[in-house]
Amino acid sequence: MARHTDPVCKLCRREGEKLFLKGERCFSPKCAIERRNYPPGVHGKGAEWRRSRESDFGKQLRAKQKARRVYGIFERQFRRYFREALKVRGLTGVTMLQMLESRMDNVVYRLGFAGSRAQARQLVNHGHFTVNGRLIDVPSALLKEGDVLEVREGSRKRKYFTELPDFAKGRTTPDWVERDLKAISGTIKRLPERGEIDANLNEQLVVEFYSR
Ligand code: SF4
Repeated sequence: MARHTDPVCKLCRREGEKLFLKGERCFSPKCAIERRNYPPGVHGKGAEWRRSRESDFGKQLRAKQKARRVYGIFERQFRRYFREALKVRGLTGVTMLQMLESRMDNVVYRLGFAGSRAQARQLVNHGHFTVNGRLIDVPSALLKEGDVLEVREGSRKRKYFTELPDFAKGRTTPDWVERDLKAISGTIKRLPERGEIDANLNEQLVVEFYSR
């Protein structure tokens, strides 16, 4: 009997591309985009043609939804990042992306300590990490240059973390973080540059969406 696809894969199908929300499965033939790359729902196949005829508003909306889904953030909080980014000098869209990348759950993911941002969020929520020696269990906490993220002493003996170095060594890390796999720790060297953030996101359209 066919197995129901987890709803999270519907988000990728809605956007028409892989958003890599499910870790290893995203790289396997089981990925829903590999098997059914058309929008979910009874009119999914019929609705496919709409993607190519989207209005400017439609494109902005899709760009915003996609970025929001990639980072797994609710609308209210996502809009808050936009408002905060407006207060900073520089390109609002890039500042917004830098904030999203600095989130603690994203840093855990970027360091290769979790297979997906959702898993990273759960690990942070469960209190497995410290930042600069202090336990932080808030996935949205923004880390800054020089911050050191480590696995909490009490969590080190857990099977997940004893096996992690083996799993994580195949995962590459961006240049703005430095990883110590033996110690299972990471340091923020600096904020990421635009070129080091997912090129498939269109932050300009996101800014246009919120500036309407
Ligand atoms: Fe599901 Fe990952 Fe494929 Fe997206 S990329 S459809 S989350 S398996």
